[in-house]
Amino acid sequence: MHLIYNKIFLEHKADKHPERPERLLAFGELEQSEIENGEKYLKLIYDDSHIEKIKNASKNETNLDADTYTNEKSYEVACYAVGAAIKAAKENNFALCRPPGHHATSNKAMGFCLFNNIAIACKWLNERGKKVFLLDWDSHHGNGSQDIFYNTDKVLYVSVHQFPAYPGTGWVNEVGEGKGKYFTINIPMPPYSSDDIFIDTLSKIIPIIKQQYKPDVVAVSAGFDGHKDDPLLQLNLTTNSYYEVGKMLSSNFKNIFACLEGGYNIEVLPRCVSAFMMGVNSEKSKLEFKEPRTTSAANVQREFDSRMQNLRLSHDGYWNL
Ligand SMILES: [Zn+2]
Repeated sequence: MHLIYNKIFLEHKADKHPERPERLLAFGELEQSEIENGEKYLKLIYDDSHIEKIKNASKNETNLDADTYTNEKSYEVACYAVGAAIKAAKENNFALCRPPGHHATSNKAMGFCLFNNIAIACKWLNERGKKVFLLDWDSHHGNGSQDIFYNTDKVLYVSVHQFPAYPGTGWVNEVGEGKGKYFTINIPMPPYSSDDIFIDTLSKIIPIIKQQYKPDVVAVSAGFDGHKDDPLLQLNLTTNSYYEVGKMLSSNFKNIFACLEGGYNIEVLPRCVSAFMMGVNSEKSKLEFKEPRTTSAANVQREFDSRMQNLRLSHDGYWNL
C-alpha cells in the first residue's frame, strides 16, 4: 500500500480552519500521482440538483454550515478527491486527499465534507459485484456513510468512534434497516478510551467479519483524530493502534484501500498514516517512532463493556460478537 497524492488537494482552503492544507504539507515532499477528475462518479450517489448546489456554492468563498466551507477551487478539488478514492479502490492504495468525506450524506455537505469520497468508491465496487466491509475509525461517527448504506447488505458499515461527540449519531441501536438490518455496526467508545479498547475490540471483530460476511474488499475511512494529541477529541490512542489495525487487516484480507478523513494535529498525522501503512505492509522494522501503548482507566473500560453488551442485544445476536 502506498500514498496517492496530488498538489491539487492543497487548493481547498479557508482562514483559520482545522481542516487545512497544512495537514498534507506536513508529509513533506511527496511524489505526485496522476489522478482523474472524479466528477463523472458523483452520480453514483448524488442527484444533479445536489451536485449543482455544491458547484454553485464553490463559485465563492462560502460557508455551507458552521463547519463546512468552500472557496473557488473546492468543487474541482472535491472531484479530484473522489477520483483519488476510485484510484485507491482500484490499486489497494491510500488516498491522501482532502476535503474529507464521511460526514457527507446523499443530500447534504457537512462536517468539513463536500462529497463522500469513500462511499462513492464503495458504490463503484458494488456495481462491479463486490461486497465491501467499510471500516471507519475516524473518531467522529461517519453519519454520511451510515446513511448512504443504511438499507443495503452490500456494504457492511462498521464505525469505531468517540461518543458523545460530533455529529451526535452512532449509538449501538443504529443497526440498519430493511435489507441493511444488522449491516451497520456502531462501536461508541467513551471519551478517554485508549489503545487497549481500540485494539482488543477490532481484534475480536475483524475475524468475525471475515468469517461471517466474507467481503471482497475492505474500505477504510482512515481518520486519525483519535490520537491522544489531537485537538478536537478526547480519545487516548497512539500510533500503536493504527499499526496494529493495519496488521490485522492485512493478515485477514487481500484487498484493502483507504481514504484520509480527519486528523488535525499536523505533527502526528503523518506518523499515524505511516504507522497504519507499515502495519498493512508488515514493515515494523521501519517504524522510527515509538509511543508507549496506552491503557484505559477502569471506569472507562466498564462503561465500554456495558455498551458492547447493548450492541450485542441491539443486533439480536446476528453477529457472533
Ligand atoms: Zn473526525
